[in-house]
Amino acid sequence: KKLKTLCLSLQAKMSRPVHSRRLEGVDKNIWVEFVKLAATYSTVNLGQGFPDFPPPDFLKEALMTALSGENHMLHQYTRAFGHPPLVKILAQFFGKLLGQDLDPMTNVMVTVGAYQALFCCFQAFVDEGDEVIIIEPFFDCYEPMVTMAGGTPVFVPLRPKAPENGKMMSSADWKLDSAELASKFNERTKAIVLNSPNNPLGKVFSQEELELIADLCVKHDVLCISDEVYEWLVYDGKEHIRIASLPGMWDRTVIIGSAGKTFSVTGWKVGWTVGPNRLLQHIRTMHQNSVYHCATVAQEAVAQGFQREFMLYGKPDSYFVQLPKELQKKRDCLVQSLDAAGMKPIIPEGTYFLLADISNFKSDVPDNPNSDEPYDSRFAKWMVKNKGLAAIPLSAFYCTAHKNNYSHFIRFCFAKEEATLKAASDILQKWKQEKTSP
Ligand code: PMP
Repeated sequence: KKLKTLCLSLQAKMSRPVHSRRLEGVDKNIWVEFVKLAATYSTVNLGQGFPDFPPPDFLKEALMTALSGENHMLHQYTRAFGHPPLVKILAQFFGKLLGQDLDPMTNVMVTVGAYQALFCCFQAFVDEGDEVIIIEPFFDCYEPMVTMAGGTPVFVPLRPKAPENGKMMSSADWKLDSAELASKFNERTKAIVLNSPNNPLGKVFSQEELELIADLCVKHDVLCISDEVYEWLVYDGKEHIRIASLPGMWDRTVIIGSAGKTFSVTGWKVGWTVGPNRLLQHIRTMHQNSVYHCATVAQEAVAQGFQREFMLYGKPDSYFVQLPKELQKKRDCLVQSLDAAGMKPIIPEGTYFLLADISNFKSDVPDNPNSDEPYDSRFAKWMVKNKGLAAIPLSAFYCTAHKNNYSHFIRFCFAKEEATLKAASDILQKWKQEKTSP
């Protein structure tokens, strides 16, 4: 009897593969790995992109009112494609920015963060055999999201050019080669992903660069998935230009945004898509068959936040004016600390990230030519374990084939309290002293 039970239990054990083919090759995730490392070892975390300062009071108050006010229906489901007050104000706001008359019900859809908006786009538009152009370095989820949809990512790098007369490098020194970009478009190209301002480099694409991309999209009848989550975080008087506003682009562009980045509330996970109904109708189909509905109270509070910003647009009290001002100071502070320590920073024109060159630190963390792991990844792990400072390796933002071409930079997030940035500066300073003293 015992033998029979054993045989049965062996038979009952599943032996066939359980995962779907679309999961093959997409199981590793840089954030899972580096967030864990930072939590275990870091004393100063400039790794993952989130502010450690509080969100604005008006937004917290709006959430409190939504939670404890009289309208108890805010605790129940709302409209699947976006809470009406939120889609209405988003349509008004983006309508003004784009010079378009937007219908809140068909030109805007709310998502669970920009992440879900991206996922919906790739699922809605990409088929087996379709190619999607991704500009490197890129926010890492684009690649697995394209492959999970059955598409093929085609990568084109931004190429750095050393600045003249010993000036510090800027994210503007990283440029697309127009002939190289044009060579990636063909009859299989379905879409291009544009991320301006760009994570991790902080590049804000110029009018000329956007026109180049737009002309190619129009010429080859290609969609543009425009990830603009850092749209308000631009510095030094630079302007964020929306590619959807260029000739021929509105009809083929989906704009993606995030309240997480806009109002410093990454944990709320409220995002949106804005675009023509002929594109958004398919995003709605994807959404209704997966997530269906996003948290009502958070949408209500974000709607209130946008109402306020609509009234104060361009005025000194606007959060969209104040936040970049504050962040520019933080950027300059981190740039100075890194430069003083010999970790050459690339000055970002936008976002709350910057890259720093670690070439001068090879003596502390020697290269290992026999390792498959890119140098910057080993360096970032060593730094968090030995110095308590967390950052993200740039190679994480490249496809496998190109990782080793860009493996001597690490990305720091500077959306941090003054005290956090000071602590990072102290670590770097001490490290420099240890390096220079015999
Ligand atoms: N796109 C980019 C470029 C990002 O950096 C992020 C967040 N790091 C997202 C999308 C995802 O945004 P959310 O948190 O709203 O999902």
